[in-house]
Amino acid sequence: MQLAHLDIKFLPGVGPKKADLLAKELNVRSVDDLVRHYPYKYIDRSRFYYLHEISENMPFIQVKGQILRFDKIGTGRGQRLSAIFSDGKDTIELIWFQGIKFVLEKYKTGITYVIFGKPSFFNGKFNIAHPEIDLPAQLPPVEKLGMQPFYNTTEKMKSGFLNSKAIQKIMLGVLPYLQSGVSDTLPAYVLKKYALMNLTDALINIHFPKNAHALNKARQRLKFEELFYIQLNILQQTKWREQNLRGLMMKKVGHFFNTFYRNYLPFELTGAQKRVLKEIHTDVASGKQMNRLLQGDVGSGKTLVAFMAILIAIDNGYQGCIMAPTEILANQHFNTLKEFIRDLGVNISLLTGSTRPKERERIHTALQSGELHILVGTHALIEDVVQFKNLGLVVIDEQHRFGVEQRSKLWKKNTQPPHVLVMTATPIPRTLAMTLYGDLSVSVIDELPPGRKPIQTYHYYENKRQALNGFIYKQIQAGRQVYVVYPLIEESEKMDLQNVTEGFEYFRDCFPDSKVSMVHGKLKTAEKDHQMQLFVSGKTQIMVATTVIEVGVNVPNASVMIIENAERFGLSQLHQLRGRVGRGAEQSYCILLTGFKLATETRKRMEILTRTNDGFEIAEADLQLRGPGDLEGTQQSGIPFELKIANLAQDGKMLEIARNFAIEILNDDPTLEKPDNVILASQLKKLKTNVINWGIIS
Ligand code: ADP
Ligand code: MG
Repeated sequence: MQLAHLDIKFLPGVGPKKADLLAKELNVRSVDDLVRHYPYKYIDRSRFYYLHEISENMPFIQVKGQILRFDKIGTGRGQRLSAIFSDGKDTIELIWFQGIKFVLEKYKTGITYVIFGKPSFFNGKFNIAHPEIDLPAQLPPVEKLGMQPFYNTTEKMKSGFLNSKAIQKIMLGVLPYLQSGVSDTLPAYVLKKYALMNLTDALINIHFPKNAHALNKARQRLKFEELFYIQLNILQQTKWREQNLRGLMMKKVGHFFNTFYRNYLPFELTGAQKRVLKEIHTDVASGKQMNRLLQGDVGSGKTLVAFMAILIAIDNGYQGCIMAPTEILANQHFNTLKEFIRDLGVNISLLTGSTRPKERERIHTALQSGELHILVGTHALIEDVVQFKNLGLVVIDEQHRFGVEQRSKLWKKNTQPPHVLVMTATPIPRTLAMTLYGDLSVSVIDELPPGRKPIQTYHYYENKRQALNGFIYKQIQAGRQVYVVYPLIEESEKMDLQNVTEGFEYFRDCFPDSKVSMVHGKLKTAEKDHQMQLFVSGKTQIMVATTVIEVGVNVPNASVMIIENAERFGLSQLHQLRGRVGRGAEQSYCILLTGFKLATETRKRMEILTRTNDGFEIAEADLQLRGPGDLEGTQQSGIPFELKIANLAQDGKMLEIARNFAIEILNDDPTLEKPDNVILASQLKKLKTNVINWGIIS
């Protein structure tokens, strides 16, 4: 179909200026792109209401009837026009605050009109302000089609006369093109198998639904298509990798692993840790490249598992590295691992942005000679100057800060790609994991080390501060340490920093017998590390900080986590922060402090956290409450999270079906060459070149 690729500037009602806006604001360039800009809501104009049916919180409605009389109320600027409108039985007030003269000239009493607007409830009665009024015979054709579509627009588009109504008009212009039939982007056998609407009908009905049922069918079809192609893309690449990249062979479990296991293991592994280690070993001994996601709640002991996996690599003559998102974390891993390896005869170094040039030199040399077994560090690790002799296993901690792009950079560190173990700090809901990490196999540590007492979480309002201070005092007397975390976001950075500093002073004043540390992102790295170190070594008892301490920091003696302005944090973030305590043998506490006035959703967040410690449950709730776009890490993920129509919070079932089907197809026809699948191959290719972000993951 030629029209599909027609530049939209040639469409009626578009022109070069608007075409430019559409391209810039929505990435819409061709007719094909345009029809894939779906409405975000509809208003049903196929149904006429009676006034007695009106209730509160109703969307737009339309009613047929007559105006009984007009009344001008008030004078001057406060003047408004009121009309009493009757459907033959009941009446409602129509109100205008502007354009009064125009209304009085245009509309007459005693004539049948169709009014359209949103009823609101005021002074015990309903009214409709500024209704649209039409003669029944003059209702525009769109409205006759039933549901009126509403399109997302941007501020820039609106000021360029491209509001929802304008887009609707343009869509109406291409309706004949759709009606003449477009070639489908899914093979006929797929449509049949899943009883999906064909593309022509789906596109017509997504813009101008005949009725609710047709709209639903159209939605199902377009959602399925969207989810299916994302999965097909991820899975095809995974398959390609599996077939074309041989994995490094690490069959042996030898000296290093065994010595550590027998002599140095500080505690019995949990059942889950053992199981995951077996899964990893099976992978690295399979001859295929491992790409595994290790999910485990905070404090479940992922670091130890990662370390032991690296020992397997070393046993087989390879090097390993651990990459962490922050210097604090890299430091901490380095210290933990140094403790683990003690007399093992394994060499380990730390490389971060603040590593001195001389030490850097030394590390580079030792890496290339193979003398250095383990390198711990930050992003600095993926720089091209860092070359290993024989990199066998890459561990990425707290994955959500690394995108797919960085991951693939690591694959290229060796001629034969190293095995990759990705560890997430926050459990990820299944649907999200399938999309974000659909290319990874998944291991789950679903068991905490024994003897952990579940953290007790409380939601306090500001007025409890005195009592809280008493509690903090007692905990410090008992030898425990306390975190106090303040929010800090870019938009309100100045104010936030001030809050942290004031908080620091407040706690110093309240607890003159204790020492207080402060850490925030604006401090120099050396100072941050120093303060952190003071807290880790127990020299300070209270740590006032921003979320820089969010991930991974491990101070088992800390038993209280106080979160200031908890209403400003997301669920997963709160859960992460809470996970900084409860790491030792003592009972730990998390106190969520908020103001009195809370939105319903915020109240719900507090309620969920005080109720459960289960990270998976919390992640799921987070997805439901906020939707996938806002979840941490999704922006950097490199996957098109701006899904056009599917919703990962709601369409989990369909995602699963689409994924399984993609697997089925690829098993049968990995390169999508069978005649039936030609459409799939060409559509996938098109998406890869057209959709922003998709290119990255190919
Ligand atoms: P996370 O999964 O959040 O990264 P860590 O690896 O930091 O958790 O482990 C949390 C704490 O639990 C650490 O102090 C670690 O030494 C300890 N730990 C890990 N595994 C076990 C175990 N099997 N038994 C007891 N403690 C453990
Ligand atoms: Mg960790």
